[in-house]
Amino acid sequence: MMKINVTEANEKLGIAVPFEFVTTAGEISAVHEDYSFDGDITVRGECVATGRGYRISGRISCTKSFVCDRCLEQSAVQQVHDFDEAYQKRGSGYNEDNQDVNYFDGDQVDISQMIRDVLLSDQPLNNICNADCRGLCPKCGANLNHGDCGCDRTVIDPRLAALQQLLIKK
Ligand SMILES: [Zn+2]
Ligand SMILES: [Zn+2]
Repeated sequence: MMKINVTEANEKLGIAVPFEFVTTAGEISAVHEDYSFDGDITVRGECVATGRGYRISGRISCTKSFVCDRCLEQSAVQQVHDFDEAYQKRGSGYNEDNQDVNYFDGDQVDISQMIRDVLLSDQPLNNICNADCRGLCPKCGANLNHGDCGCDRTVIDPRLAALQQLLIKK
């Protein structure tokens, strides 16, 4: 559980109160079919009481494991994800239907769900082991990151190929 007690922040209005948690993907249900977060997920940040509510910001550090979309090798990358969220205590007398604000009860803010959402949404569309990944040879399937297989992989643009055909016919 990643719960921030706001009592200290309340006593130091406007001053950042640091927090740090170590969790795991299992603990916060950060599960996705295309990848996983292995080992510890570290969350460091600060909580500031703004008078009306709280600003909770920080950074998540994790290790993401996946099969590379290009070379199909099992890979792992270190990731950091920043977050910056507004929280407001329910029943504090202020408007409570702001879409950009997270609401909580009592003196504890449970950030588990928010951290999970940031981890799963702040991901690239593709899982690539390395920006320079050369992928697999379309002819023999060799992993080109391990060296060239020697195949002729010259690909002719299909539009040019059609034009070539036309020229040959004439
Ligand atoms: Zn790769
Ligand atoms: Zn090849």
